[in-house]
Amino acid sequence: MKIYRFERAGRVSYGLLDQDILRIASGSISEGFEAGADTVPIGEVRILAPALPSKIVAVGVNYKAHALERGRGLPSEPLLFLKPPSALIGPGDAIVHPRMSSRVDYEGELALVIRKTASRLKDDDPVEDYILGYTCFNDVTARDLQDKDVQFTRAKSFDTFAAAGPCIAAGIDPGRLAIKTFVNGKLRQSGYTSDLIFPVPVLVRFISRIMTLVPGDIITTGTPSGIGPLAPGDRVDVQIEGIGTLSNHVIMEEGG
Ligand code: MG
Repeated sequence: MKIYRFERAGRVSYGLLDQDILRIASGSISEGFEAGADTVPIGEVRILAPALPSKIVAVGVNYKAHALERGRGLPSEPLLFLKPPSALIGPGDAIVHPRMSSRVDYEGELALVIRKTASRLKDDDPVEDYILGYTCFNDVTARDLQDKDVQFTRAKSFDTFAAAGPCIAAGIDPGRLAIKTFVNGKLRQSGYTSDLIFPVPVLVRFISRIMTLVPGDIITTGTPSGIGPLAPGDRVDVQIEGIGTLSNHVIMEEGG
């Protein structure tokens, strides 16, 4: 089941995809969605970021090949950082290259959306119950500022640096999905979620022992190898098997 959040005539709704038709849904992230009788062709709506999270929890160096390309050892436990909800954009929105940075990178990632409040999960708690589904994510990063600053906040937090969508795919197994990133149609990253150092259940349990996860929160699981820069005018696509493609374009920050 693919769940879309979209805007039509100034109204924001959720809908469930049926061929190329969205069935307008009642319900919520925590209660679940049920399709009603009202429908709209998907081409006639503006698709939005799939949730409004209280926080976006990101995981660094979670693929071995990416750890190597960044010259880092393998982590012994998940390396976490936060991205602010104010950075969130949806499909088709522009990624704004800040003038403060001279190198802005894409990072295609598998992300998940929390369905049910999760706090201090135990090893035998069924993690799937807490996850609504999965989406594509672009963890846009000002690489020069990440390397310059001691921590990641500035480099990861610029407005538009958290692209998510196009939908929440529910009922899929996140264990072995092909993930690809294209820039201007050229393949730049290609990996499998089976190569995650810390897989989804481990991450959700680990994070829940640090901070309470609430419905709509997004966890993005880390990027495979092949990171690289984006320039104004570029189009970047993150494509994940079973979910779809998240497309955004890059513009330069105004002013100077
Ligand atoms: Mg990342």
